[in-house]
Amino acid sequence: MNKKEVWVICDLERQDGRHYLQLVCKAHMLAKSLNAVVSAICLGRHNEVAFESLKTAGAARIIHCECEDLGNAVVAADIVGQLIESRPPFLVIMPATWLGKNIAACLSARFNVGLTADCVNIEVDEHNEVVFSRTALNDSVIARIKCQNSQFLMCTVKPDSFDVVPNSAENGILLERFSHRPDKSAVSIMEIIEKRALSRPVQLNLHAAKLVFSVGRGIGKGKTLDLLHKVAQKFRAEVVGTRAAVESGLIEKSRQVGQSGINISPNIYVSFGVSGASQHVVGMRNSRMIVAVNSDDSAPIFNYADYAFVGDAFEVLKGLDDLIENV
Ligand code: FAD
Repeated sequence: MNKKEVWVICDLERQDGRHYLQLVCKAHMLAKSLNAVVSAICLGRHNEVAFESLKTAGAARIIHCECEDLGNAVVAADIVGQLIESRPPFLVIMPATWLGKNIAACLSARFNVGLTADCVNIEVDEHNEVVFSRTALNDSVIARIKCQNSQFLMCTVKPDSFDVVPNSAENGILLERFSHRPDKSAVSIMEIIEKRALSRPVQLNLHAAKLVFSVGRGIGKGKTLDLLHKVAQKFRAEVVGTRAAVESGLIEKSRQVGQSGINISPNIYVSFGVSGASQHVVGMRNSRMIVAVNSDDSAPIFNYADYAFVGDAFEVLKGLDDLIENV
């Protein structure tokens, strides 16, 4: 009998492949409990380097759907839909990106299956059933969701919810090519009401940042914040912050890390005046190295820190500034 398949939808045209590698690693873990195999469904142009890294992340099968234009999510969803019709999967995991979310919505409507969006975790419980976790009730709780009576399971996952760990597919890798019939009727324009040039909003790519400085309410507005930005620029660090920092006007909302913000996993995360509340930690705990600066030696952030500096944020930033000046 054919084994169940756990699919991960991979957008090969994205410059940062980290997100789908995180999903393949998680799928590899789930597949072990479910006695399933992981298939990476690759949309985009042929890319040997990407195929190789998917293999290392744990994909047993790579199904390549040649598709030059991923700017049209309806067409991309139609390709995945045709593939589902030809070989139904057990679970489909998609990145919670613009493309992933749009494909998921189209598939949910086409196959009438449940969709759990913006997950932060996926587990297999003691009944061998898949449980999706996501925030709910205005981010005040983590809801654990099971999807029942559905032909297959489907979810989208926020970036940096999982680690990338090297795995290896068990029985060698299988590379298949899926050729689809382009469905011209997938998009039809009924009437053009207005044509307007839209300027794209500036895209922040905090997920790709290697070094991140995190602003907490403790540093306040004024000279410490100014110095932090100056030093961050010299170290080429991205600046993020806590919800309290956002609410105090220290940093913009799009840079908020945590339960109701974004997840990040940089190589180095350095916090200044961040207490370490659980709602913040959930968004940065996958950082490779955590450095914390806080004037209170009992601040919870120190429980997660690889390096802890008890002291005033301004003094530490001044030290860093002097250091880089003298290099
Ligand atoms: P504070 O808790 O005020 O901590 C400031 C810290 O700065 C203290 O530890 C203090 O010792 C230190 N300090 C003070 N002066 C200095 C100095 N001169 N030098 C060095 N250190 C100094 N929070 C998030 O971050 N992200 C979220 O997504 C998020 N979602 C939430 C969702 C819900 C439903 C709820 C209820 C809360 C959420 N929160 C979130 C808020 C979270 O609970 C905390 O309130 C918040 O993270 C605290 O931010 P902070 O550490 O900057 O501020």
